[in-house]
Parts: sequence; structure tokens; C-alpha cells
Amino acid sequence: MIEITGLKKSFGNLKVLEDINVTINDGEIYGLVGRSGAGKSTLLRCINGLENYDEGSLSVNGIEVKDLSKKEGRVFRKNIGMIFQHFSLLERRTVYDNIALPMRCWKYSKTHIDKRVKELVELVGIPEKIHDKPRVLSGGQKQRVAIARALAMESRILLCDEATSALDPKTTQSILSLLLKINEQFKITMVVVTHQMSVVKDLCDRISILEEGRLASTGRVEDVFLNQPPALKRLLGEDEFILPDDGVNIKIILSTAISGGAVISRLSRQLDTDILLVGAHMERYKDKLLGTLIINVSKNKAPAVMNYFTQNKLPWEILDSENNRNEAFSSHPEEKLEEAALRALA
Ligand code: ADP
Ligand code: MG
Repeated sequence: MIEITGLKKSFGNLKVLEDINVTINDGEIYGLVGRSGAGKSTLLRCINGLENYDEGSLSVNGIEVKDLSKKEGRVFRKNIGMIFQHFSLLERRTVYDNIALPMRCWKYSKTHIDKRVKELVELVGIPEKIHDKPRVLSGGQKQRVAIARALAMESRILLCDEATSALDPKTTQSILSLLLKINEQFKITMVVVTHQMSVVKDLCDRISILEEGRLASTGRVEDVFLNQPPALKRLLGEDEFILPDDGVNIKIILSTAISGGAVISRLSRQLDTDILLVGAHMERYKDKLLGTLIINVSKNKAPAVMNYFTQNKLPWEILDSENNRNEAFSSHPEEKLEEAALRALA
């Protein structure tokens, strides 16, 4: 377990971390999210003792990291792997040598190293690249080598600093799948620094959003996305859709259990009216898929449309043109639309 309480850190006059309180459980995938300069990497480096902190406590499995001597720190870091955006491989050495490096530093036997390197290239899915040099590998393959090297010492904790930020979306997905597989298979705790929402949604169990060195929000990923705290809105950028001023804008949420297209086309036929699609997107929260749909209808048809959604048990709300929900016109005045939609599904 990683327990961080009241942690503070400055570089000279610059306060980089202020009163950080985070607990990361064993086997959990924990995301540290925020804009560039928020202090994510610094916090990550405090966890493995590469960076000192000024106040507060940071303990890993009961060990206070700042109390470690230089030598103890070296032993402590042995079991904490780390991967980076730009892989940090030795370009002149083969994949084999790169993965063997930490074990050679710790003077492991040749037979142990050989066995372990071969296991690891299988695990990360690049056994045929074992004697190649990094320059002939793709970005995704290089990150696989870096992951293998980070796990070489049987690490129990893997720290990932923007590990997929230099990769294209498809390669990112394949690396995320690999990290999920490793987490499941070995129950390794992962602390994942990222500014990519896809990484948060597909990989993390819980997250903290950092803003200028402070914890702005913390929680389970699906809760944070459903509750949309101000820090998340600031991170995502607000006002995704530009709403027409004419007519009435209605937002509904559909799930995989409901066929969205059919609902809308039936509505259009039944009320004999045109429906303008203003915005739509899909959100996946690990195993749940929710689609947001914003439609625009004429003022005189709006009451019938609301009635239709209510009859079909679809939570709806009217948005005003500032894109805010209008609580006076909503099927669920007490709760957020997303919550109402999830409740309707349950
Ligand atoms: P993030 O990873 O969220 O982008 P960092 O933790 O790298 O943020 O940096 C947080 C702040 O600390 C930034 O303002 C950065 O310029 C500053 N900083 C980071 N490392 C150092 C350092 N070694 N010396 C001085 N300032 C630093
Ligand atoms: Mg960083």
C-alpha cells in the first residue's frame, strides 16, 4: 500500500505539491491526471524516492521513503519499476541486453537472467525481437521492451509516466491491454501519470486530478466522470456542443440496452416532426457504455417529445443555450441525468 498524507514539495520558491493525501491499495491501478506542470511527475518520483519531499509522509508498505539512506533507497527501488514516454532504452544494446540490465546491475546469475529475459519477451509479446536493437522497433515495441525491463526485478509496483503519450491511438490501446493483463496476472500496483482521458477510462480504477500541485478531485473513475466535478470539466474543456438558440434542446442518455437510433426515428414518425441532431457521443466506463444525445425540436412539439421520453423511461433534460441543464425542465430534478440513466438501467 502507498500512503501519502499532507505531502508538500517545493523547488526553491516554487510550490509544486501542496497537501497531497492519497492512498493507493495493493493491486490497484491508480491514475494521476492533470495538465502539464500540475506536479504529476514530481509526485510519481517522490513515490520511488528519486525526489525528496519537504513535509508530510509518503510510505510504501509501511516504509517512510524519505527516511531511507542512499543504500536503502537503492534496495527499495529494486522492486519498483518505471516506464516513461520516451522509453529510455539503450540504443546500442539489443532488446535482450536492455531487459537484462537491471539484473546484471544486481549481479544475478547468467542462467537466471537468461531464463527471465526469455519469459519477459514472451509476456510482452515480442519474442522474435529479442536480438534486435531498439532503432528497428516501432514505438509500441520499444515500450514493450521498457515494460519488460521494468518488471525484470519482480517489481510489485509499476510507475508509468505518460507511457502512451508518444504512441498512436491503436498502439496506445495495445499497450493499455498489456498493462491490464500484467495487473491482472501479477496483481502489480500501478500508478499511472497521464493527461489522456482514454488511459484513465480504459486502465484506471481510481484517479486523482491534480491542479497546480493540489488535489482537485479524487474518486473511482466512473464516479468522477458521472459527477463531473469542476476540475474534470476544466480538464476536458467545457461546452462540447454549440446549441441552436431556436427551438428546444433536449439531452437524453442511451445505453447499450436501448437502441438509440430506433428511439429517435420512432419519435419522429409518431409525432410527425423533424428532429435535429445537435450532438452525440459515446462514453465507456470499463464495462458500461452510455451514449449522450442532444436533439433540437420546435417549441410546440417539445411537450410531446418530453412526454414520449418519459413514457419510454428515458431520463431527459432541457438544456439552455449556455449548455447548462435546466432543472425546471427535467424528468429527474433531484439528480444528474447520467445518474438517472444508470438508475433506470439497474
Ligand atoms: P507534470 O508532470 O504534471 O507536467 P512536473 O511534476 O514535471 O509536472 O512539474 C511540476 C512543476 O515543477 C513545474 O512547474 C515544473 O517546471 C517544476 N519542476 C519540475 N522539476 C523541477 C526541477 N527539478 N527543478 C525545478 N522545477 C521543477
Ligand atoms: Mg510530467
